[in-house]
Amino acid sequence: MNRTLFFLVFLLTISCSSPQRYDTIVKNVTVFDGKGGAPFLGDVAVLDNQIVLSKIKSSDTADKIIDGEGLAIAPGFIDIHAHLEPIEIFPQAESAIRMGCTTAMGGPDGSSPINLKKFLDTLDEMGTGINVAYLIGHNSVRSEVMGLENREPTNAELSKMNGLIEKGMKDGAFGMSTGLKYLPGTWAKLDEIISLSKTVSRLGGIYTSHLREEGLGLFDGVQEAIDISEGADIPVVLTHHKAIGLPMWGSSDKTLKMVADARAAGLDVMVDQYPYTASYTSISVLIPPWSMVGGRYDKFAERVRDLELRDSIKRGIVYNIMNDRGGGDLKRIQLAKFNWKPELEGKTLYDWAVLEGMEPNAESGAELVIQAQLHRGASAIYHAISPEDVENIMKGPNTIIASDGRITKFENGFPHPRVYGTFPRVIGHYARDKGVLSMEEAIKKMTSMPAKRLGLRDRGIIGDGLKADLVIFDPEKIIDKATFEKPHQYPEGIDYVIINGKVVLEKGKFFDIKSGEILRGPGYLK
Ligand SMILES: [Zn+2]
Repeated sequence: MNRTLFFLVFLLTISCSSPQRYDTIVKNVTVFDGKGGAPFLGDVAVLDNQIVLSKIKSSDTADKIIDGEGLAIAPGFIDIHAHLEPIEIFPQAESAIRMGCTTAMGGPDGSSPINLKKFLDTLDEMGTGINVAYLIGHNSVRSEVMGLENREPTNAELSKMNGLIEKGMKDGAFGMSTGLKYLPGTWAKLDEIISLSKTVSRLGGIYTSHLREEGLGLFDGVQEAIDISEGADIPVVLTHHKAIGLPMWGSSDKTLKMVADARAAGLDVMVDQYPYTASYTSISVLIPPWSMVGGRYDKFAERVRDLELRDSIKRGIVYNIMNDRGGGDLKRIQLAKFNWKPELEGKTLYDWAVLEGMEPNAESGAELVIQAQLHRGASAIYHAISPEDVENIMKGPNTIIASDGRITKFENGFPHPRVYGTFPRVIGHYARDKGVLSMEEAIKKMTSMPAKRLGLRDRGIIGDGLKADLVIFDPEKIIDKATFEKPHQYPEGIDYVIINGKVVLEKGKFFDIKSGEILRGPGYLK
């Protein structure tokens, strides 16, 4: 052996056996790698923004050594349905991070900024606590081109919309969202959505939809999403999947079968779900859309002044209270954000009727909904989903967990508890306490499954060289604390959150270091 070779071998031997220094090592921790297999005991290290799993030696050291005994580690949770607009005001995204979320996708339900490039560049410059992905919203695009018009687009308008969707994809969107229950998406027909979805599909994106109906028309809504997957050859997510309103309780068996059958036929259809028996949306969801054509406040007010129209609007609302989102009982409709009467936030429509000295029935409920809309609306929590459907959907093999939550400042307003509790609730309440699914399955639904859906190859799994987004929790203690009565409560049992290699949460202490990255989708053009 000549000298040089000897020296090289010598160096190699030294470097193999000499201790490596990492930023962080978590020792003797139960590893849920995100892929859904049984957890195993091991060490996980972080160096810069990379995970090290297989090559850790007992002699290795780190700037920070975490004793993982009794704790579990998982990939950071990826929330594919988040309302992220307030992130410009609360870029640290503490409410999301404290529930283990490290990546969230905004722009759901058809609503997003139109100029995504500008928006994402702004976030990039500001810095964000979490990794941020975005969808381009169909309702936003349609309003931009056609306003709140109840008609089909002309060819010129459709091509303009296609242009905006294409631009959104090139700006970095991961796909297109629709909110076909909302304005103006509710006036879009299948052809229009398929045409736009083809543009998204061509650029590698997905289609995610708040279905046209989640109550009485649920099956048609599910079928429509399946038809869009087929018609545009596009991966689909039926978002915040549920069966709302008493007449539809128990329908999840059928909808899950529709999804499974579509997949068996070769279509890439999935669902996502938040783990609660109540939804949260504008009170106008109870109002017939035709009464808001051209303007959800001013045109609506004009129509309400016409007594005949008012009567018909009222009948529409009564119908929705009885058969759809109202759940057939004013006590199931809880006012959330209500600028006109903030003292009623957290109270139900039943409470409000009683306070007004009205008989608390569907007619007076409809009257109050009209009053609320005349005073620029309100948002409400609708307790109209059956617990059995929630569990049934959660168990489904094609179900991803996503929050549908809004970035929230602690103690501001009256949010749905999902903004604080989604992921710990599924792991602690549904997996550990109720045994609805295994903990590894629950974690897979919030890590590798959403990562795969978005085409994120470097996140959602604990593996060598992947991005260091990690959550360390106590599997015995992890639980959501936020409730519908007292929403502003952070979850318990999440000890550490690491985002892109940086520790941002440590034993209750939150560090505002904005280590999130802005992620760009498959059609992104620099
Ligand atoms: Zn929605």
